Amino acid sequence: MTKAVAFGTVVVAVCAALSVGGGRLVRAVEARQAGAQDRVVNIQYIPGMSNAEKLADPFSATYSTLYLLRGGGGHSLTFESDDGVILISTMAPGWGGPILDVLGLITEDPVTTLINTHPDSDYSGGNAEFPSATRIIAHANAKTAMARMPAFQGDNAQFLPNTVFDDAMSLLEGRNRVDLHYFGAGHTDGDTVVIIPTYGTAYLGDLFPSKALPVIDTANGGSAFALPDTLQRALEAIESAGVDYVVAGKAPTFRGRQVQLMSIRDLQEYIDFNRAFLAAVKSAADAGKSAEDAAATLEMPDKFSAYDMERVQDAVAIVYSELQP
Ligand SMILES: [Zn+2]
Repeated sequence: MTKAVAFGTVVVAVCAALSVGGGRLVRAVEARQAGAQDRVVNIQYIPGMSNAEKLADPFSATYSTLYLLRGGGGHSLTFESDDGVILISTMAPGWGGPILDVLGLITEDPVTTLINTHPDSDYSGGNAEFPSATRIIAHANAKTAMARMPAFQGDNAQFLPNTVFDDAMSLLEGRNRVDLHYFGAGHTDGDTVVIIPTYGTAYLGDLFPSKALPVIDTANGGSAFALPDTLQRALEAIESAGVDYVVAGKAPTFRGRQVQLMSIRDLQEYIDFNRAFLAAVKSAADAGKSAEDAAATLEMPDKFSAYDMERVQDAVAIVYSELQP
């Protein structure tokens, strides 16, 4: 059950308390977290398509609100469904407690469902810290990869996904519905795209972490060559679902604390960026350049000047390894 009289009240209270560091609630949270190496989860409200409905009837108990959580590792999305709290991404190990502290400000319901968008520990590392979760969902390939990870050995194997899918699955119904899609290899070979229709929001995890060179996890089946086509299929599904907000898994903050929400236009731009990057690396390879030389002399169109190119050596090396397997 939501701990709120009206959605606006709790959102404003939580955001204000966390952003200025004052207020009784936030002091309680900070006290509990003091021993947890100052792990603080920031929370922000995603203004989904249901806004008009909420404004028309702010005291209705028939909806909940979608929140973005930022802490350690990938961002999380969460909302209170009729079947308990749904949590997409559990962040890095040790962040489950701080997530639960923040959830405790907005709901009394337990976390019942975890969705792991891919195996990496900075998105799935907190699984074992949500013992109330009865359903842990991931793509079948992600579960296979997670089963190899040290974090899921022995007793912790119980925190591996217990529900897997291959192409698509839907969870719950009506306003609670969550659609999970697999569009092919990209960051790994088991990346889930999550669409939450009620909130007009899609979550892409590390398929689209931020406006930067792609992160390709080759150990888990990722492919720089497949990524743009996989993202293009995701974009088509996101567009036809009428999504307004695209949440990139590690989108940076602006104005201090708020994570930058993306749009379909940003996703299209990221696809174009990846295609341009592949083309630039291929032409360097065709010209006989070494991977090191290609990275040092790589030229990208000016329109991508805002993109973070810091990991260019690694990113180019991965494309080269795919060119010459
Ligand atoms: Zn990842």
